[in-house]
Amino acid sequence: MTSPDIADLAIRVMAGERRALARAITLVESTRKDHRIQSDELLQRIGRDNSVAAPKSLRIGLSGTPGVGKSTFIEALGMRLVARGLKIAVLAVDPSSARSGGSILGDKTRMELLSRQSNAFIRPSPSQSELGGVARRTREAIRLVEAAGFDIVLVETVGVGQSETMVSEMTDIFTLLIAPAGGDELQGVKRGIMEIADLIVINKADGALAPVARSTMSDYAGALRLLRKREGDPEGFPRALTTSSVTGDGLDEVWAAITELDAWRRASSHHTARRAAQSRLWLSRALERGAVEMVTRHPGVAGALRDLEADVAQGRLSAEAAADQLLAAFRAEE
Ligand code: GDP
Repeated sequence: MTSPDIADLAIRVMAGERRALARAITLVESTRKDHRIQSDELLQRIGRDNSVAAPKSLRIGLSGTPGVGKSTFIEALGMRLVARGLKIAVLAVDPSSARSGGSILGDKTRMELLSRQSNAFIRPSPSQSELGGVARRTREAIRLVEAAGFDIVLVETVGVGQSETMVSEMTDIFTLLIAPAGGDELQGVKRGIMEIADLIVINKADGALAPVARSTMSDYAGALRLLRKREGDPEGFPRALTTSSVTGDGLDEVWAAITELDAWRRASSHHTARRAAQSRLWLSRALERGAVEMVTRHPGVAGALRDLEADVAQGRLSAEAAADQLLAAFRAEE
C-alpha cells in the first residue's frame, strides 16, 4: 500500500466503513515488516492513542472457560446494547490458536445474530505465535475500532494461561463468566483471576440450574468479600451476579453493574489513572522486548549468548553473571 492508500484507508476507518476497518485490522495483525511500517503510519493517521486523551469508549474484558456461554452471553448482551443505539465491537484473544493452530474462540459461526447488525463488529483472534504479539495487535485493533466509532469494545478470552491478565491490562472493566457448580468448584478458580475481576457473572441461571447458580453466586460473593479492598472500587464491587444468556434474565442487571462501576471510576478519576497506568505498562513492555531483541541480535553478543546459555543451564555460571557479561559485550561493541 502506498502512502495515499493508507491515508484513504484511515479516512474510511474513521468514517466507520466496516470493510475498511476489517482491512485495517488485517494490516495491524500482519507481522510482515512492510506491513508493520504501513500500520504505524495508519495508526498515526488515525490519531493519537486515545486511551487517555479521548476516554469516551468503554473497554470490557470478558473471560471464561470454553462452554461457559461466552458467545451466547455476548450475543444476548450485544443485541440489547445495539437496540439501545450503542455500537459494539467484539475482539477475541485466543491463546489456543497461537499454541496449536486450532482455535477455541473465533470461528465464524459464533454470534450469528449480532454479527449481522450494522452496529456490531466481530473480529476473531489473530493467529500469532506468541502472546506478546497478540497483545500489541489487540491494542492496535482497539484503537482502530474506537476510531471507527464503536463505543463499547468487548475483548473476549478463554480462561487459560496468561491471556486473562493480559486482557485485564488493556480493558477498563474485567468480567469473569462462570458456570453454576457445587462449592468445590470455587477452589478451581485461580485466586489471581478473582483478584482482577470486577464482576463475576454466574451464567446459565435458568431451569434446573437456577438454584445452583444462586448458591454459586453466594459462594463467590463471600469469597470476593474476603479479598483485599482494591483502590478504584466503590462500595459493592467487585460484585457477583447471576444471569441467563438464554432467557435474558439478569442481563440488564449485569449491564447496570458495568455502567455503575464505569460511571463511578470516571467520576473519581480512576478510569483515567487506570488507562494511563496501562499505557505506561505497555510502553515498558515494548521497550523490554525491543531492548532484548537489540542486545541479543548484536553480532558481538549473539555467539557469546549461545555459549553462556549452556554455562548457565549447566550451573557453571549464574544467570545474573551471564547477563552482566553479555551487557558488557554489547556496550564494548557499541
Ligand atoms: P463459549 O464456549 O463460552 O463461547 O460457550 P457458548 O456460548 O458456545 O455456549 C456453550 C453452550 O452453553 C451452548 O450449548 C449454549 O447454548 C449453552 N448456554 C450458554 N449460555 C447459556 C445459558 O444462559 N443457559 C443455558 N441453559 N445454556 C446456555
